Amino acid sequence: MPETILVVEDELSLQETLAYNLKKEGYTVETVGDGRSALESARRLKPDLIVLDIMLPEMDGFEVARILRKEMSTAILMLTARDDEIDRVVGLEVGADDYLTKPFSMRELMARVKAQLRRARLLREEMGKSRDANTPHEKLTFDNLVIDLTRREVTLNGEAIQIKPKEYELLLFLAEHRRQMLSREFILERVWGWDFIGDSRTVDVHVRWLRQKIEADSSNPTRIVTVRGGGYRFEG
Ligand code: CA
Repeated sequence: MPETILVVEDELSLQETLAYNLKKEGYTVETVGDGRSALESARRLKPDLIVLDIMLPEMDGFEVARILRKEMSTAILMLTARDDEIDRVVGLEVGADDYLTKPFSMRELMARVKAQLRRARLLREEMGKSRDANTPHEKLTFDNLVIDLTRREVTLNGEAIQIKPKEYELLLFLAEHRRQMLSREFILERVWGWDFIGDSRTVDVHVRWLRQKIEADSSNPTRIVTVRGGGYRFEG
């Protein structure tokens, strides 16, 4: 069955170009031009991916992502009008999986779309496996920090902490490579699934959020340490 993509873009010519190119690749595509319709369509369609513009009538893309993130785990690729750090950070904070700055080439868009759909497929497979009731709970324990791979839950001193899907994936990736120096580019490629040099500040932002949750003192981290000129290393 072809994968379904919801395109949310109010600029009609771009909306048509996106739809045309995605359909040409074999995807089922639905298009809407405002935030409210985006919510309705996403709930009805349950797409595999949402391409979501930020500046939209009725309700902006941030708000749409924030609402949908609570209801579904669909991959969200955000379109930003300018290369704005704030937009990017807010976008990731509300749960976007990736972002693309306008103007972009269709080739670039297609690479991101494919990377996100591939990631979503892998995640579904993994989740399907972990939902099997017969699987014993697999856990990674680091002193008072426990990562429950079955429930995709993290506890600190026995209490579950609020952790976003991307933060969980990053923490798990770091933990699985304990005491290894991991470059930002490598982390980006493996956790975000980007096939080319993306923006490594994305990694820094997520590490900062994780530290606030799992470090005793996030300004003096002992679990996720920064390696000078390199990247990060998980100490446990
Ligand atoms: Ca727009």
